[in-house]
Amino acid sequence: MGSINIIVVGGGIAGSMAALHLQRRGAQVTLIDRWEPGHARAASTDYNRMIRAISGRDEFYTRWARESRMRWLELMAETGQNLMYECGALTLATAGHCDWEDATPETFDRVGVPYHRFSPEEVRQQFPQFKLDDISYALFEPEAGLLMAHRCVITAVDLFQKSGGTVKRGHVTTDGQERPMLDGRALEADVIVIATGAWMADMFPRTIKPISAVLGINVLYTSTPDGSDAFDMANMPCWIDHGQGSFGIPSSEGSGVKAAVVIPNQPIDLDQDERLIERASLSRTRAYIRRRLPGLIGERVVDSKFNQVILMLDTNFVADWHPEHENVLLAGGCSGHLFKHGPVFGDFVAGLALRDYGTSDRFRIAGRRKLSPRESPSGR
Ligand SMILES: Cc1cc2nc3c(=O)[nH]c(=O)nc-3n(C[C@H](O)[C@H](O)[C@H](O)COP(=O)(O)OP(=O)(O)OC[C@H]3O[C@@H](n4cnc5c(N)ncnc54)[C@H](O)[C@@H]3O)c2cc1C
Repeated sequence: MGSINIIVVGGGIAGSMAALHLQRRGAQVTLIDRWEPGHARAASTDYNRMIRAISGRDEFYTRWARESRMRWLELMAETGQNLMYECGALTLATAGHCDWEDATPETFDRVGVPYHRFSPEEVRQQFPQFKLDDISYALFEPEAGLLMAHRCVITAVDLFQKSGGTVKRGHVTTDGQERPMLDGRALEADVIVIATGAWMADMFPRTIKPISAVLGINVLYTSTPDGSDAFDMANMPCWIDHGQGSFGIPSSEGSGVKAAVVIPNQPIDLDQDERLIERASLSRTRAYIRRRLPGLIGERVVDSKFNQVILMLDTNFVADWHPEHENVLLAGGCSGHLFKHGPVFGDFVAGLALRDYGTSDRFRIAGRRKLSPRESPSGR
């Protein structure tokens, strides 16, 4: 096992966790990234990301999220780092957008996920930060919360290096046959794991581009009211608000409140775009705050992040061998929900790379079709 030589390309959460697990399983691993791990363009390096089990009727991701929660707790115990805060997550069910929410309690009951179903009045009592005149009910998951995303990536890379892994800088390209290249030469290793996030679509124009779309997402952080801790994670949960195309995270370690409003089909040039706030996001976020979080009206934007998602047709991740190159394994396919699964996804990819098992049907490149929000694990 020690002689297996593996290159992992991409040091976001998918690549860093895969590299860590491979190294810990005895492979000799080099992790290559174009930029310093933790850099601002990667999807994994915002301050925070939500961790919640809710995945509608999809039992697979519900179980993975629960297992990931345990792994994050173990990583916290191992490193002493504050990687996760369990402030809970509140999913607001709005008439006309409830399929995903309606399907969830049955899945939670089967898997054993703790949750409460709150009436609008109960939410008002528990979390008066939210204005809820349009919701039918809410699901509250007390063991959900947030991950300090940037810190999680840095911690994974650090553990990887402490286990004997090597981190290198380099821009891996592909040739006309989609073979990975570095500095004009074919990349050579027993296995090459490609975990390049949204960049995977351009690197694999025949294999990944046709089954994916890349979108830019601006998120803004709004100041909490002067002298008030009502919007801190100690007093407010993360939330999902599909009816308003939104989700958010309370202020964590002074970040401000992240109220994200997804503007669909926002194109992004991954390398050339300046990662600055767009006017449309500013006005949409302010309108959302007026509607949902009136206690933040008049508060100022104090920070922002402009990341991207690669959405697979069916919102399932990718963990599969390249159809033409038997040592090239593609790992990622974010679809807006991969971060929380990082430790389990990385472990799964490691076993796949070492050929301990084959992949799951849902992670195959071939045979994908667009799913309705009702069928999709992410509710989109
Ligand atoms: C606004 C937003 C909110 C989100 N919210 C959540 C959430 O609440 N919960 C959740 O679980 N998930 C969430 N996600 C999704 C999650 O952040 C992503 O799925 C995850 O971070 C993807 O990780 P990755 O490692 O695949 O990609 P990335 O983090 O983008 O990493 C890819 C890495 O590959 C490197 N790379 C690219 N091309 C090359 C190359 N040619 N050569 C060398 N290196 C290369 C890049 O430099 C980068 O470091 C959200 C995403 C966004 C954008």
